[in-house]
Amino acid sequence: MYTCSICTLHTCEKPEVGHYPKNCPVLQKEFMEEINAKYAPYLDFFSTCARIEAEGYCQWPRLRETIEVCLRMGYKKIGLAFCAGFRSEAKIVDELLRSKGLEVVSAVCKVGGVDKEDIGMTPDCKIHPEGFEPMCNPIAQAEMLNAAGTDFNIVLGLCVGHDSLFLKHSEALATVLVAKDRVLAHNPCGAIYTAKGYSKSKL
Ligand code: SF4
Repeated sequence: MYTCSICTLHTCEKPEVGHYPKNCPVLQKEFMEEINAKYAPYLDFFSTCARIEAEGYCQWPRLRETIEVCLRMGYKKIGLAFCAGFRSEAKIVDELLRSKGLEVVSAVCKVGGVDKEDIGMTPDCKIHPEGFEPMCNPIAQAEMLNAAGTDFNIVLGLCVGHDSLFLKHSEALATVLVAKDRVLAHNPCGAIYTAKGYSKSKL
């Protein structure tokens, strides 16, 4: 079992420490070498991302980094999978991408207008169980962008789990520009930073 999240050595980052935890994956040489080989098809993409990280380190916001990926990779058609609650933000991102010469294909989460009960969800899945409530449709969002042949997809504010299904079904590589958090102005880290204090009773 791997336990990097509670490791106290972090030798993977600091070889000078000289020893590893017993269950450290770094000690599984064969396993790690097999993984290294998996980067071969993505070397250009991954190198580009690394250069962006290095060049804009602590200077460029994620939005700029995302645009840099699109431009430096030579992507032409960008997919934007956004939450209906992010309509205004989606318009801003759309306009920004277009101003950089990129084509944008966008899909809102409520696309299809399918009632949650129509796919077999029970009324307790609704915020207001008494009437029509359109489900989010992340698989449709992904398939729409797949059909359009997008080169790269951007996730903007999809709900927890809806983003999972989108990412699972997106054929193009995708990045999450914004992770939705309705309570913390879409800053999930707020709950992490206050997990032992102000947020304790809410977690
Ligand atoms: S890879 Fe090894 S050294 Fe690095 S955090 Fe995980 S357990 Fe610790």
